[in-house]
Amino acid sequence: MTRSAPPPTTPPVTPPVTPPVTPPVTPPVTPPVTPPVTPPVTPPVTPPVTPPIEAKACEVYTGEPLASLKHYEGITHEHSAYSDGDPHSIPADYYRIAREKGYSFAAGSEHSDLIENGLFISLHASCDPTSGRFDPTQLEYCFLNPTGDKLQKWKSTMDQAQKASSTNFLAIRGFEWTSDVFGHINVFFSKNFTNAKTDGGYLGMDTFWDWFTRDPNQIGLTGSLSSPVPFGGGGDGLATFNHPHDKCLLNDLPLPITEGLCDWNDYTLIPAAVERMFGIEAYNDSNRDDRYQAYIAKALDKGWRLSFLGSEDEHFAHYAVEERPKTVTIAKSLSEADFKKAWLARRTYALTPGQHLHVDFNAGGHPMGDKISCDTGATLPMTVATYNADGSDFKGTLQLFSNGGKQIATIDSANGEFKVPVETGDHWYFVRVHGADGKSVAYVAPVWVKGK
Ligand SMILES: [Zn+2]
Ligand SMILES: [Zn+2]
Repeated sequence: MTRSAPPPTTPPVTPPVTPPVTPPVTPPVTPPVTPPVTPPVTPPVTPPVTPPIEAKACEVYTGEPLASLKHYEGITHEHSAYSDGDPHSIPADYYRIAREKGYSFAAGSEHSDLIENGLFISLHASCDPTSGRFDPTQLEYCFLNPTGDKLQKWKSTMDQAQKASSTNFLAIRGFEWTSDVFGHINVFFSKNFTNAKTDGGYLGMDTFWDWFTRDPNQIGLTGSLSSPVPFGGGGDGLATFNHPHDKCLLNDLPLPITEGLCDWNDYTLIPAAVERMFGIEAYNDSNRDDRYQAYIAKALDKGWRLSFLGSEDEHFAHYAVEERPKTVTIAKSLSEADFKKAWLARRTYALTPGQHLHVDFNAGGHPMGDKISCDTGATLPMTVATYNADGSDFKGTLQLFSNGGKQIATIDSANGEFKVPVETGDHWYFVRVHGADGKSVAYVAPVWVKGK
């Protein structure tokens, strides 16, 4: 065997070194910066501000339930021979005649001067030689021939009132504190009386207010010796200012000392008397005008809380006639207790002669006479409904008055609603009803509104 030459040595093929493929550095993809999407600025939708109903409101009425109250028409301020009325009349006559004519109550008020025990004289015009109506044939009734009842007029009046009263009729005893310098005041329901001619009632009002605000069983410097409690107070009485500005004896004298005396010291407020000094006459005798209105507004502005009365002030025994004004009291019943409550609550209205109206007044659920506390800014609806007492329609208009005597609204109907915005502070509001002829026919007791 032949040996062959060794094959040439081929250098090992080294494969070319391929450098490692570095992938190209792609910079990290940063997503484009989109600015955050701010939605267009829509102002926030605020719902319209409707305050919850309770936010501006008036306090709720909590007095005697309105459905339990009735309207009672009656006569007030009567005189008989117990003072200066007809020499043949006695209080029993005005009580009886009012009842017979269908009225619900009668409140007499003989002049304080003539009701002392033993003072049997009557001072009617026919008994007075200077009056122009003097009638000598009446003298025996005026001065000479007193009946037993006239020797104790105050007690006799109570006996007659009690006899005349029933569940259907209330007879009220009263007297008229008669100061012709300061003014006249009727006091009803009091156990005692006081006499302006002897208690200092021509020198100052203090003596009356002292008596009126004193306990009936407490003896003081004023009052009468012949009262049931001699010199006892009148703290159980309810009283009214009578015929404003009609009795101002000293006003005619051009003396500076007389200034501010008339009209009970120009309606100076006596805080201790306010609660029981409940009324003022809006009509007296046969007047149908509004001549007392400015005085009424003044008294209310000074802080007295007065309801309104229409008074007969009858001196000729023509009691309960169409020619004299009347008063309506809104009470639960004809009991003395319910009537006192009604008068203390100021639930009365005055009617002109010949009108027999039923006036309903409602201020946000409160009856006339009420004190109402409200949030300032609230609206207080005041609704008035007027119709004839027999239920038939009454045609007329309504006028609303407030502080300062300002007339603030009218309604061209005797039925309607005033919407009164409540302002801060104390305000009174009363309604005057007019008849179709444009003259006033009724003054409805105010409401007193406190805006807080
Ligand atoms: Zn009088
Ligand atoms: Zn009188």
